[in-house]
Amino acid sequence: MVRLKTAREIDGMRKSGRIAAEVLRLVGPHVRPGVTTEELDRMAEDYIRSCDAEPAFKGYGRRDNPFPASLCVSVDEEVVHGIPARRALANGTIVSIDVGVKKGGWYADHAHTFAVGTITPELRLLMEVTEDSLKLGIAQAVVGARVHDISHAIQVHVEEHGFSVVRDLCGHGVGKNLHEEPSVPNFGKPGTGIALAEGMTLAIEPMVNAGGWQVNVLEDGWTVVTRDGRPSAHFEHTIAIINGKPEILTQ
Ligand code: MG
Repeated sequence: MVRLKTAREIDGMRKSGRIAAEVLRLVGPHVRPGVTTEELDRMAEDYIRSCDAEPAFKGYGRRDNPFPASLCVSVDEEVVHGIPARRALANGTIVSIDVGVKKGGWYADHAHTFAVGTITPELRLLMEVTEDSLKLGIAQAVVGARVHDISHAIQVHVEEHGFSVVRDLCGHGVGKNLHEEPSVPNFGKPGTGIALAEGMTLAIEPMVNAGGWQVNVLEDGWTVVTRDGRPSAHFEHTIAIINGKPEILTQ
């Protein structure tokens, strides 16, 4: 069941969303050659806790293998859910940083892909197309449209540029839980799926591969990688449908 939010509840989500946006603004300038992904994670967790909020990803998942960190940090062929570690970022790579914040019982989910040092034009294009596809998807989130209108807008833009959208993972509803209904795939047929309604809150998150859409999960049980080893980018905003139109809560 999709849980619609009142204006007051969306206010609560705006607070979580603002913190998530601040985390990426804080961490972004530190995404440089030589920094370890663990250092970025520590910075994010300290900031979130200083806001009297909780890192939503830490401890998430199955009890025998909870996610161990506050950020998902996914480098190059890693699509999403990469675990921060002692490894240092290398020049010429791209890194997706995904953060979940819970404050006052409300969740927000937000991701951005950053360039580490100087990257190739192909990687630059992959990042731009992914970010633009997110914007195009968000623009479809209006009352009267259907959830797969969002999906379709993302898919068309990505495939026009010769890239592919990941099929195994989707955007999602968000609010009292990190993952709620509906599911928001990054591919689909326009005019299908549930009707978008006032008070709906969604995490829209294109995951775009330079090569094929197929992915694998590594032995750590978390890190999703492209099957062909080619790079992948990921951008995500939490939005609310207010007065019939999308408002980005994570900015
Ligand atoms: Mg998400």
